[in-house]
Amino acid sequence: MCEQVAGEGDHFIADLAVSRAYLNRDQYFPGWVFVILRRHAEELYDLTAGERAALIEDVTDMARALAAVYRPVKLNYELLGNQVPHIHWHLVPRLAGDPDPRWPVWRVPHDPAPLPPGPLRDRLEMVRRALAAPR
Ligand SMILES: [Zn+2]
Repeated sequence: MCEQVAGEGDHFIADLAVSRAYLNRDQYFPGWVFVILRRHAEELYDLTAGERAALIEDVTDMARALAAVYRPVKLNYELLGNQVPHIHWHLVPRLAGDPDPRWPVWRVPHDPAPLPPGPLRDRLEMVRRALAAPR
């Protein structure tokens, strides 16, 4: 994750206060986004109170933007780090028609669904616009 936040790449959405947001390459669940802490830290208790507060505001701002775009039944927030120990939130809008709506997305076996360049640009732009919209 340290390498990812060092650059923008083609899935970069925006810089937030203490984090950077990226669209997950796998868009099987539309709007699946990562909010990645800009500096390296592994646990919430490694952050200062100010960083933690700023991070939760970043996550909330992104969640609000995703809700505006996708009108989900429920937004999921997951902070795991078992595989990649660098604080990164998974934000996943769970939409009507979700294949397994009562359980985490990890339980849904599927082939990854990357977007072709045009739809990827459109999706990034939609989320950026929602993020910039006044509340
Ligand atoms: Zn790291």
